Amino acid sequence: MIRFEQVTKRYPGGHTALERVDIDIARGEMVVVTGHSGAGKSTLLKLLAVLERPTEGRVLVGGENVSALKRAALPYWRRSIGLIMQDQRLLFDRSAFDNVMLPLSISSHPPREAAKRVSAALERVGLAGREKAMPVELSGGEQQRLTIARAIVNRPQILLADEPTAHLDDAYARDIADLFRSFNEAGVTVLLTTHDGGLFERYAPRRLSLAHGTLQ
Ligand code: ADP
Ligand code: ADP
Repeated sequence: MIRFEQVTKRYPGGHTALERVDIDIARGEMVVVTGHSGAGKSTLLKLLAVLERPTEGRVLVGGENVSALKRAALPYWRRSIGLIMQDQRLLFDRSAFDNVMLPLSISSHPPREAAKRVSAALERVGLAGREKAMPVELSGGEQQRLTIARAIVNRPQILLADEPTAHLDDAYARDIADLFRSFNEAGVTVLLTTHDGGLFERYAPRRLSLAHGTLQ
């Protein structure tokens, strides 16, 4: 379903973040990408979300070369995958409900249908009934759940998450790990990065280890 073919990513300035990476991920897999800081983990996800494009090679999803998608197609592409990136902030002046509604605002769902989806997404992450809460009223773990609700509200088949358990206490981090596992059990292909590989060990996910831009 996801395929990297000889992918090299060099950033402007010449730094090589990924070098000749080949990856094949089947539909329904759960893959945990580990590696030191600067290993290229985020870059891997950014290439899939087409927040970056490869310098060489191709990134294919369902046979489509997403690296070649036209700029105008990108918002749609990004909304078809669930994306949890570190630089995506919650809107702190909007309620939990409105934060999760955001990705639906450009689609053509009738308002009642959209509201139902938002509530379902909040319920799915364990935030049922917190529609009116403002992000500051939520704990760190709950804020991360809200970020995840926003990512799944379009019911994506693929979920990409960059360090989703960073900055969380152990118990919260375990809850978030369980949540990703439950999406995977429901059939979603999950690709996430972590520097705490132990957190996911009991699910025995497939593990990809990156060091200095190459797979180990
Ligand atoms: P990781 O997620 O494993 O920490 P990244 O993919 O963020 O690694 O980064 C890989 C390498 O690419 C690092 O050396 C980083 O400094 C560099 N890098 C990442 N983004 C950029 C950018 N926008 N411009 C230049 N270099 C970058
Ligand atoms: P570009 O330079 O590709 O046009 P923009 O930053 O203008 O990128 O963002 C275009 C769209 O991509 C935005 O509407 C936003 O929803 C989405 N987007 C941008 N950055 C991210 C990100 N880190 N994670 C998820 N979606 C993003």
